[in-house]
Amino acid sequence: MQREDILELLFATPYAVLRERAGQAVSWEKGSHVQVRGLVEFSNVCRRNCRYCGLRAASGRVARYTLSRNAILEASARAVSLGADTIVLQSGEYAIEPHWLAGLVADIGRELHVPVTLSVGEHPHEAYALWKEAGAARFLLKHETADPDLYARLHPGYELAGRIGHLRVLRELGYEVGTGFMVGLPGQKPESLADDILLARELNVSMCGVGPFIPQADTPLGTQPGGSAEMTLRVMAVLRLALPWANIPATTALATVDAVSGQREGLLAGGNVLMPGFTPPEYREQYCIYDNKNRVDMESARTAIEGAGRTHALKALH
Ligand code: SF4
Repeated sequence: MQREDILELLFATPYAVLRERAGQAVSWEKGSHVQVRGLVEFSNVCRRNCRYCGLRAASGRVARYTLSRNAILEASARAVSLGADTIVLQSGEYAIEPHWLAGLVADIGRELHVPVTLSVGEHPHEAYALWKEAGAARFLLKHETADPDLYARLHPGYELAGRIGHLRVLRELGYEVGTGFMVGLPGQKPESLADDILLARELNVSMCGVGPFIPQADTPLGTQPGGSAEMTLRVMAVLRLALPWANIPATTALATVDAVSGQREGLLAGGNVLMPGFTPPEYREQYCIYDNKNRVDMESARTAIEGAGRTHALKALH
């Protein structure tokens, strides 16, 4: 699939056609099963100043937290007991003590027998290697936009080339690598969405998430309009056609724009992953990457899976 083909699909093909083709592709590649990954946001500390993010270092409004090892293990155990088949440990980007995280990854693998995915930002290559050795199977590092100029404007002090370099290193170390990008970023040229899809394909990622840009009031982009759920669903469907092998989540951001049907529609647009949150309730409000974040839990995951006519061996809620 060439860039022109992707542009034609993104901007000139009826959504009903895209949705049907993406549905066929996901069924063929992934069957009816939806993967459920339990998300534990273990720290909101961050050294970066991404212009769209409520956790940026310059934000004085956020009460910073880092969960204890025991709290993370408890949250992970609850996710697994309810049917999550992977634990995703997510945080802002900060100077994590590498051996602390390696020990945690090993403990989760030993005690809960599920793969661990890390989503903790950029770190020295030695740390990536240590965490891989400890049992981390997957690493999520979103490229956010494939437009180098826009990337530099949104991420002061950083360049897209550096981000791509980290993604390549992670692949070389044997991680299943995931990336992701936003739809409707202020200053984003619509056609650069085709480049996002092409970049994900060139990196041969195992997972790619697409979410609408959602403004967060305390950030420099807080008054900008958000991205649309409709365009996000179109991009998801085209992503499924361009990267049929990839795991594609129906993102929490999509659920935030359209709380009732966002997750279900994401599955119908080619998604095959949901990521319900298991961060302890008292910390959830402090993980405010964007405003009005709609919490996805096991119950809403179950509703979305059933509504999309798909399957998962979720256990009873208790
Ligand atoms: S997007 Fe991630 S790296 Fe950027 S400020 Fe937010 S938490 Fe930090």
